[in-house]
Amino acid sequence: MNSRNSIDIVILGAGYGGMSCITRLSRKFRRQSHVRIHLVDRHTYHLLETRLHERAVRESEVTVPLARFLEKRPNVTFHLGEVTRIDLEDKYVELDFGRSDTTEGAARRLRYDYLVIALGSKTNFYQIPGLEEHAFQLKELEDSERIRTHTERMFAIAASETSLNRRKEYLRVVIGGGGLTGVELAAEMAERFDALSEQYHIDPAEPEMLLIELSDRILPSLDGRQVARSAEAMQALGIQILTGTRVLGMREEDERLLVLREPGDPIPTRTMIWTGGIRVTDLLRRSGAETGAMGRVVVDQTLQLKGYPGVFAIGDNALAVNPDTDEAVPTAAQFALQQGYLTADNLYRLAMERNTKKYTPKVLGEVVSLGKHLAVGWTSLPLAGRVRFLGFLGSLIKRAISERHLFLLWKERQNWTGHW
Ligand SMILES: Cc1cc2nc3c(=O)[nH]c(=O)nc-3n(C[C@H](O)[C@H](O)[C@H](O)COP(=O)(O)OP(=O)(O)OC[C@H]3O[C@@H](n4cnc5c(N)ncnc54)[C@H](O)[C@@H]3O)c2cc1C
Repeated sequence: MNSRNSIDIVILGAGYGGMSCITRLSRKFRRQSHVRIHLVDRHTYHLLETRLHERAVRESEVTVPLARFLEKRPNVTFHLGEVTRIDLEDKYVELDFGRSDTTEGAARRLRYDYLVIALGSKTNFYQIPGLEEHAFQLKELEDSERIRTHTERMFAIAASETSLNRRKEYLRVVIGGGGLTGVELAAEMAERFDALSEQYHIDPAEPEMLLIELSDRILPSLDGRQVARSAEAMQALGIQILTGTRVLGMREEDERLLVLREPGDPIPTRTMIWTGGIRVTDLLRRSGAETGAMGRVVVDQTLQLKGYPGVFAIGDNALAVNPDTDEAVPTAAQFALQQGYLTADNLYRLAMERNTKKYTPKVLGEVVSLGKHLAVGWTSLPLAGRVRFLGFLGSLIKRAISERHLFLLWKERQNWTGHW
């Protein structure tokens, strides 16, 4: 307890990790009025990032208003703003509320006794020349809307373009990065090409989708057989997969963009989307915490920062090590969720002066969608072990995983109010 006779718990980020943490935490502390919980995010919604590729192509509900989750949680205060500084020594975070009619760049300090850092990740352009300037990315709601509007616009322009070469440029989409995001987006967009072609009276054989990947295979987290089957399904959608190809840069020339690559000639296009890597915000490194690969913060087995007890990092921000394999826990929603729930339990335990629990990731499976009605992956079943799938069943499983996340958030909410 601090000199203010209260305990302030601050959670940075209302993504998968932050939301699972806050929903459980607010319920656990519902009878302790001296415990005040603060949630900070730059948006007023929880973004279902794992569905963002759908929104880049069609209408799809990918946000959940935070107000709906928080309305029955009087012990939670929401702070809308940009986290601009984390001071681990003096225990405060700085928030920027941005520009409004009356204030300009108003900043405020939020003090904490316990801190949970769950700010997710951003696109890594690896300083490839021209890439950040010219390529789209897919990390935020606005990114998905930009891609959708732009693609439709390109089809609309192509419809009346008489030069064959220019038509090809308008109708060629290049995606850099053959991981989960790149593959899911490529499949979803390629599937949409037919409808757009029909809408704008374009020969459906004209639009082109190229997926460029540096390594010699796409989808590194799936086994070889599944990768081969995914590649077949993608080729059936007309996607050209260029593995072993490095994006060297992008430049503008004669009103079009050139994607420079090795090996191969530059690719002229109007649409390049980069999904080739992520990194964590520099805020964490600047805070003085120990960071590792991708700028993630090194945490111990209870997910607390080394040297800063009471400060937790979860999800993409945390460089947690799986004690069973000695490998870093991957950046994925399933681990962010698990870590959020565990951190809520541990914060409660700390406040009750009990021992904290250690984190061991549970790998529940991997599912990659290949368009609206197809998905590939595997899941672990209690008696059957690892079950692989490719097909419509996969897409149902993918949808079920996403719905389960929402269900669990609502369940925590209902439990809180006692009506569940
Ligand atoms: C298109 C796409 C598809 C994906 N598909 C899958 C999938 O199928 N399965 C899977 O497991 N993973 C998938 N992922 C990865 C998964 O979404 C991330 O690993 C997961 O979102 C990480 O959760 P998190 O809580 O760490 O961060 P996030 O969910 O990213 O949440 C971070 C939150 O912090 C906020 N924030 C960030 N910086 C600031 C700041 N400075 N100030 C204020 N607020 C801030 C953001 O607004 C956001 O709400 C996908 C990712 C993408 C982009």
